[in-house]
Amino acid sequence: MPEVTEPYLREQLEKRREELKHAIASPAAGMPPAPLLQLLKEVNAALDRMNSGTFGICETCHDPIEKDRLISDPLVRLCIDHLSSEEQRALEGDLELASRIQRGLLPQPDFAFRDWQIQYHYGPAGLVSGDYCDLISPVKTNGKLTFLLGDVAGKGVAASLLMTHLHAMFRSLSSSGVEIDQLLDLGNRIFCESTIAGQYATLICGRLGVNGELHIASAGHLPALHIGRHGVEQITSTSVPLGMFSSTRYTAQHTRLERGDTLLLYTDGISEARNTLGAEYGVDRISIVAGEQHGAHPRELVDACLSDVRKFSAGTRQADDQTLMAIHRTDSAAISLGE
Ligand SMILES: [Zn+2]
Repeated sequence: MPEVTEPYLREQLEKRREELKHAIASPAAGMPPAPLLQLLKEVNAALDRMNSGTFGICETCHDPIEKDRLISDPLVRLCIDHLSSEEQRALEGDLELASRIQRGLLPQPDFAFRDWQIQYHYGPAGLVSGDYCDLISPVKTNGKLTFLLGDVAGKGVAASLLMTHLHAMFRSLSSSGVEIDQLLDLGNRIFCESTIAGQYATLICGRLGVNGELHIASAGHLPALHIGRHGVEQITSTSVPLGMFSSTRYTAQHTRLERGDTLLLYTDGISEARNTLGAEYGVDRISIVAGEQHGAHPRELVDACLSDVRKFSAGTRQADDQTLMAIHRTDSAAISLGE
């Protein structure tokens, strides 16, 4: 496992050992606390394995244990393949529960806000995803809608834990009403302080106002595509991902979507999907497919992109989480009378 993780886990284990010792010594614990003593023994054994250099190695096959499992439980001593069938069933149950919790965090699938219509597709490669996708309605009646789409480095359980962290963090930051660039500044600082060194996430977010007004900022995420009447324009990121440098300052770009225009966001599971020859799908190809859908309902756009990616990568296994979000400014003036 990478060296960045082990010092973090050691620190966590040492902290837990102190708490355990305290609980064991405390008279409030009452009866001889056998489970606590057993736990202390396991924590000590894990620290001994760190000292002897065998930490994170499966005791049966001597291959490395899955990193995300070690992060969620530093006491594990066996890789997934060498768990008993009972332990494997318990793990699958946990993952299914995690998957349900994660799906419960997603915004409603048919989202409408003033003259904006939003559709998304959220497709984890496994049971849980490291992709992040959210829509936050304004607190004030004349406020703006916030959209966010991100991708935590890595996949599986560890990435999904960080995804839920991003979700909670941006939900609470967004309610404070800060501008979109500040939202990223603050989010980045908190993310830097609270994550394991070496963990980062790309993120694109923005606010939708009246008359097609759009404020957008990106932390190292793939270019957003503005699908207009005269073609597709890329809105590229000018900054680094969240979690890299706590002093990073982000800047927002201001633009406008005409009636019938759409903003398309996606994660690298889409743009880096591969075909059976190993070639990459690419941003240009999404641009072409999306450009043909100007004026279409965002559901049709999302479906057209997905079906093209699937056609391209037919015969391969989906290697990474795939997320797409289409933000459409509707053509019909009637819907926006409330503005
Ligand atoms: Zn093993």
